Parts: sequence; C-alpha cells; structure tokens
Amino acid sequence: MSYQHQYVDGTRIHFPVGKLVCVGRNYAEHAKELNNPVPSEPLLFIKPATAAVALEGGFALPQERGSVHYEAEIAVLIGKPLSTRPNDEEIRDAISGFGVALDLTLRDVQSRLKDKGHPWEIAKAFDGACPLSPFVPGDAVEDLADIGVRLSINGELRQDGNSRDMLTPILELIRYISGHFSLQPGDVVLTGTPAGVGALASGDHLVVELPELCRFESRVL
Ligand code: ZN
Repeated sequence: MSYQHQYVDGTRIHFPVGKLVCVGRNYAEHAKELNNPVPSEPLLFIKPATAAVALEGGFALPQERGSVHYEAEIAVLIGKPLSTRPNDEEIRDAISGFGVALDLTLRDVQSRLKDKGHPWEIAKAFDGACPLSPFVPGDAVEDLADIGVRLSINGELRQDGNSRDMLTPILELIRYISGHFSLQPGDVVLTGTPAGVGALASGDHLVVELPELCRFESRVL
C-alpha cells in the first residue's frame, strides 16, 4: 500500500506526499561521532516522495548495498506554502504536524561518495529510505525548542535527543530552507539526528517516540 500522511488518530491528511527536506549534522554530538566538522550553515539534502513509507508495521532494508544506518529525527509536516524567508509566525502557522522520521542511510555507500567529494543522493534517496510516523497536530507542541526524540532498538535506548540541542533550531531551519526553495503542503522537513546512530539488522524491534507527544513501534522486516 502506498504511503499517505496521517494524524495519530488515524485521520488521513489530504496533502500529496511531497519532498522530504533533510539537514545533515544539526546536532554537534552527532557530527562528532561520525568525525564530521560542524557546518557553519545548514547542510541540506532532499529525499524524493518515493522514499516515504509508513513506519508502523515494519519496513524493509535495501539488500546487498552495505550497512543501513538508522537516524531518528523530529519530522515537521508542512501544510501551507512557504518561500522567501517567512517570519516565525508564518512558519508556525504553516506547520501541520510533528512526527518521527527515520533518515535511513546506506552508510558504506555514503562514505565512498564523501571520500570522492560526490553528492550523497543514492545513499539517502532510495525507495523506502524514509519511514514516517503519523503526525500529532502542529498546535500540540507549545515550545519548538523543547521537543524530545528517542529511539530504542530491541529494548535498548540508542538515541535520546532534544530540539534544544539543534545547531539550527526548527523555525530558523525552515526559514533557511524556504529562502533557497519553496516548501509546499505535504512536504516534510527532517530536522537532523542526535548522536547514537548505528546499523539496523533484519528482525530489529524499534520504539520511536517524541516523549509526551507520541510513541510508535516498528520492526525491520
Ligand atoms: Zn539525518
């Protein structure tokens, strides 16, 4: 079944699934764990709509392309067009929901591309590269600078981050993105991953949550 955005209560969200705009190294601790310098401005890349799949119920990994890493991230669903550096209120008004995304990454492929100075696209944009949870409504979150995100695998806590530790906070990140290209209803912004990334294996049981907002279970098929 093809992916469609929905709220946690099961209501379908009738936006087309758009592009998934991602930011690399938005938490200093994560940049450090991969021996990457902290960028001086947001490092953007895009996953196409074909990368989106439902997180709940399980997802498959690409086969024979090396290690596949999880990166749990706060996902922001855009509900109104944004362009040319909107102000905080306009951005807040355009946010339809918050959820969790896994920015799946072919880490070995990415390392080879990075060594050559090439774009990472094929390591990040494959079909199924972005399992997405249902969303809590945008107004369920009061303080965008205090959203937790957690991932446990097989009962072990692997990632435990908070938006307060982002190098570029959510509103500023969306402003930066929409200063470079338009965001449309149905687009999703992935806001970067905290430290603790690692490889997934088939059969892994995952619990991802935005503490106090939403919690989802999934597994690697
Ligand atoms: Zn990421």
